[in-house]
Amino acid sequence: MFWSRQIVFILSVGVLLSISTNAHADHSEQAQPQKPVLKVANSHAWRPFSYLNSNQEPRGILVDFWKEFGQRNGYDIEFLLTDWQTSIDLVRSGQADVHAGLLQSPERLKFMAFGTPLFAIDTQVFFSQSMMGTSADFVLSGTTDHKIGVVQGGYEEEFMRAKFPDVALQLFPNNQAMLNAALSEELQAFVADLQVANYHLYATINQSLFIPVRHLYTEMLHAGFAKGNTALLNRIDNKFAWLDDDTKRQLLNRWVYYDVETVYPTYLFPALVAIGILIVTSYIVLLKRTVKQKTRALQTANDMLQEQAITDSLTLLPNRRYFYQHLYALEQSRGNIALMVFDIDDFKAFNDGFGHAHGDEVLCFVAKTAKSLLPNDAIIARIGGEEFAVLQHFASAEHALAQGRLLCDEIARQSLALFNQASKPVTISLGVAYYPNGMRHNEIVDADKAMYQAKNQGKNGTVLHVID
Ligand code: GH3
Ligand code: MG
Ligand code: MG
Repeated sequence: MFWSRQIVFILSVGVLLSISTNAHADHSEQAQPQKPVLKVANSHAWRPFSYLNSNQEPRGILVDFWKEFGQRNGYDIEFLLTDWQTSIDLVRSGQADVHAGLLQSPERLKFMAFGTPLFAIDTQVFFSQSMMGTSADFVLSGTTDHKIGVVQGGYEEEFMRAKFPDVALQLFPNNQAMLNAALSEELQAFVADLQVANYHLYATINQSLFIPVRHLYTEMLHAGFAKGNTALLNRIDNKFAWLDDDTKRQLLNRWVYYDVETVYPTYLFPALVAIGILIVTSYIVLLKRTVKQKTRALQTANDMLQEQAITDSLTLLPNRRYFYQHLYALEQSRGNIALMVFDIDDFKAFNDGFGHAHGDEVLCFVAKTAKSLLPNDAIIARIGGEEFAVLQHFASAEHALAQGRLLCDEIARQSLALFNQASKPVTISLGVAYYPNGMRHNEIVDADKAMYQAKNQGKNGTVLHVID
């Protein structure tokens, strides 16, 4: 009885336990459905396509491709990044399901099947600046001693051995090691994908240390499978429908160095040239305008200076220099001309009596009055302190004498109205030299003599000398 109870108890506990563990198992399976794992192999040092970062995490364009593939198609992607040869061997031996991306070659076709083309890569020969002028054909034909760097076990090595069997190759375990040798100037020439080289070179200070000299091929990268595993190839390939050109570009553009256009936009050079031309043109236009303005300002200043050079600053009449210029021009002229010279009488006494400032006013008054009495074609100038001279054409000596007398009389008469505090008028003594047959010299001596004669005759008068 006791034993039968015990057995029933043990059985019931067992049933309950088994029910609860099953329930638990069902529950956990529902919460976290297991995704199929896809093992993807590639190089661990193929920047920017696939590589391990300093934390040993897979990174690169192809890593992004396959992560996107996994997300869209419900796969957990496990990356097996190793050296090139091993990555291929892993796929061949079935330890990896798929190779992330590689080029087709006759050698590889022997043991691999290639799936969807992913994107194109360009492979070029790069020369260092020190090899400028060396013919790429010459080097590739093996005629020179130059060695060309290439990654061991890569498609590039296979291609170079088939196409350029005579050139000496220097083998490197991966691109990083090869580019390091190139950048430390131990290697003068190498073969690499444009994208790989750009990625490394643009990250250095001396970006133009190496330049591509010969395009070798443009090929598509494909997903690679073990030959015979067509079931997997078809399954994977069918799931690439999402990979349109836009998605490709979006994925690639995360890796700025991949896209040379992103680093140096094609419009940059023409834009710089256009800006340069614009700056130079604007500068020339501005320069021309400035020169024009300065020339005009200089011309104005020059005109002003010239004007000042021949003008008396007090009376604003032409000065002695201007007068003599005209006198020289008249020499040998045959016209009947009169030269008059007049001088203010007792001016020193006026200055002493009424002050120098009043003396200046008298000078301005005499100048203005005389000018107003003369016709426009007569030339009048202040030729000394209180001495003035006039050049004027007259039909006869009498006309000239009459003009002289008019000047004397009017200056005396009008001065009284102006300076009423003075007890006597401002008077002048005036000498007229009349040349009926033109002047033979350019001196004012004849008129001067006549003027002094007027002074001697008691001032405030006009004396005429006719010079034949
Ligand atoms: P005369 O009748 O013989 O000509 O006697 P004068 O006093 O006029 O002659 P003098 O040569 O002795 O004096 C001329 C005076 O003219 C002397 C000088 O002070 C004065 N003078 C010359 N230039 C100026 C000037 O610009 N302003 C003033 N206020 N006086 C001047
Ligand atoms: Mg005088
Ligand atoms: Mg005088």
